[in-house]
Amino acid sequence: MDGYSTGYCIISILYRVEICKKMNNESVTIHPIKNTHCIICNKMFSNCRASKLYCSSKCRQFGYYHRAELKVIRQSQETNKTKAVIDFSLADYRDYIKIQEKVKSYQKLESHFKPATPGTDRWQLYYDNPACALTFERRGIPSRLFNLKIPHLSIEQWSFIKFLYGELNKIEFIELASSLSSAFLRHLEIPEILKGSQKIDPVTVNYLRHLEKIVCGNLRFI
Ligand SMILES: [Zn+2]
Repeated sequence: MDGYSTGYCIISILYRVEICKKMNNESVTIHPIKNTHCIICNKMFSNCRASKLYCSSKCRQFGYYHRAELKVIRQSQETNKTKAVIDFSLADYRDYIKIQEKVKSYQKLESHFKPATPGTDRWQLYYDNPACALTFERRGIPSRLFNLKIPHLSIEQWSFIKFLYGELNKIEFIELASSLSSAFLRHLEIPEILKGSQKIDPVTVNYLRHLEKIVCGNLRFI
């Protein structure tokens, strides 16, 4: 048995495993690395865990004799550790779009009503009257969102911002997204065909990296 080549093929399995660590309480999950197969003979473990490497004392001994080769292979894998998979919740994205559309249609409806000052009879008639469409539409919209211009985001754009601000709750996230300038959001679009010397904005560069993660399966929507 050639220790190096065997080890190399097997080590690639070692990192296929997933680590699970909640990054926030809503949607971002990083999968922790768990070892699923013996790094020497590739036999599957019945009990996978992060620290497990060998299926038997025989394989452990082989690993010990070839520890130098295995170390080199594992080090190169360490540098490739971007294999961690990040998951985003599709339901969270749908919620974002739902509230974005709801607020938008509420604001459109409100624009048909004459301005009313809080505390006046007209205000009561519009905003505190079960028979008024405006009162009806306000239900289900958190009051902090009534006046926000919430941008419509594609799932790629949404996950890009979500990745940057994973610690925000749903409402805070909507407030943040609404605060981003349209100039910033324009950078989150796939650029037209680039001419040779044309420079790409740093925001776009990062966004393209984000798209790459999606394409490579390092970032998933589940
Ligand atoms: Zn083994």
